[in-house]
Amino acid sequence: MSTPRPFLAANWKLNPTTLVEAVDLARAVAQTAGDRVGQVELALFPPFPWLLSVAGTLQAKGIGLGAQDCYWEPGGAYTGEVSAAMLSSLCEWVIVGHSERRQHFCETDETVNRKAAAALSAGLKVIICVGERAEQFDAGETETVVESQLRAALRGLDRDLIPGRVVVAYEPVWAIGTGRNADPGHAGRTMELAHTVVTSESGASVRMLYGGSVKGDNVASYVGLAACDGCLVGGASLDSEEFSRMIEAVVEVGA
Ligand code: PEP
Repeated sequence: MSTPRPFLAANWKLNPTTLVEAVDLARAVAQTAGDRVGQVELALFPPFPWLLSVAGTLQAKGIGLGAQDCYWEPGGAYTGEVSAAMLSSLCEWVIVGHSERRQHFCETDETVNRKAAAALSAGLKVIICVGERAEQFDAGETETVVESQLRAALRGLDRDLIPGRVVVAYEPVWAIGTGRNADPGHAGRTMELAHTVVTSESGASVRMLYGGSVKGDNVASYVGLAACDGCLVGGASLDSEEFSRMIEAVVEVGA
């Protein structure tokens, strides 16, 4: 299940506030990552307005770039939306189904599926996020929730486009931005289940990420798991020094 080069994806959410800060952060990440990009795959996910400038900053640095969301229609009367087709000329990745979009912006399993399909047909690579809420975790429903979210997200996707292009991020909602990271045993079992579900649904083997309050001092406990190919990092990725500690910890796990 593991790949030789672990993947750290940095979800900047609605940060930073200015273009200057965004470019500075991208530059700092690129500088501290240096030639570690040969050992760790990195990708930054800034807000839409910063994509073009961050792309310029990352040029030839071997660091990937992605958006945090997309719309499925390629164009038309959809005020405020950004299509997967538009993104494909700016970046290579997109995140779909992040729990903050499900929670605050009425994202459903059906819209996540439409976004994933549009992203793949536009030529993008996709991180599909799944994960249970706190009350579902407490009720022991993690596996049921993750399985049903994943099956819905993958429904009808072109099987030929999945290998190498789809990555799944298991992100327990109660662990995102809370400082309460999941027990690695729980995360590992859930990623194994997710892997089995993807294989049975699509016939493909995809990479699995863990996300939820990952930092420099706990990233190794996830990346060291057989079922885990890397992490989706939110808050801690806004601090280039903390992100650099994560890169070093991940390199050490692989050494
Ligand atoms: C995320 O935004 O996907 C995330 C995991 O956030 P954080 O690392 O802040 O918990």
